[in-house]
Amino acid sequence: MSVKQNLDKVYEQIRLACQKCNRNIEEIKIIAVTKYVDINKTIEVLEVGIANIGESKTQDAKSKLEQIQDKAIWHFIGHLQTNKVKDVVGQFQYIHSLDRLSLAKEINKKAEQLNITVPCFVQINISGEESKHGLEPSQAKEFIAGLAAYPAIQVIGLMTMAPYGAVQEETRPIFRQLKELQLELQKNNWSHAPLTELSMGMSNDFTVAVEEGATYIRLGTILLGSSSNK
Ligand SMILES: *Cc1c(COP(=O)(O)O)cnc(C)c1O
Repeated sequence: MSVKQNLDKVYEQIRLACQKCNRNIEEIKIIAVTKYVDINKTIEVLEVGIANIGESKTQDAKSKLEQIQDKAIWHFIGHLQTNKVKDVVGQFQYIHSLDRLSLAKEINKKAEQLNITVPCFVQINISGEESKHGLEPSQAKEFIAGLAAYPAIQVIGLMTMAPYGAVQEETRPIFRQLKELQLELQKNNWSHAPLTELSMGMSNDFTVAVEEGATYIRLGTILLGSSSNK
């Protein structure tokens, strides 16, 4: 199946999900996660009209960035080590995995050097799995309030991941809780943290995520297949 055929199917599913919950399909942005595929497949993604590209490791992204950086909008979606910040800020426009102040400090420092602002998502570990990164929901308010000290960071939303291998309907309460947390936190009216976006939903569970309020869905396998080389 070509990327185009896969994308057509995905759009159909998004459309149905939007119908079900009365959402405007234009609120949902697809990030094509290209971590499993090479540069040619990544170019194919751009050619079918997806501009948002997601990568979770700087090594995997490096050669793609060198070749096609200007042609896409880059989202860093993986766990971000502090010593890798220099390879991310200025290369990727969005960071989805802000989860600690030491990381915020480093992002802010690098962004100030480049004289840019970095839109970030704060990653929340709703499911409570120990293997997952992200803040506990109860820590989110204090953490985000503290981010006001880092003026080059704009907190545009929250991000979460559902448990690995969960069947679709098991993910619904997780996405719902992220939405509820967003609404709760928005009451603070922070100018540094408008929190208008929700990054949630992957190949297995994006329709549920859309029904529960996702604005960015991160799709790898369903668009690009699961390659054997990674
Ligand atoms: C790999 C990855 C995805 C995409 O996963 P698929 O199940 O292949 O769609 C989405 N988000 C993050 C953070 C990832 O690491």
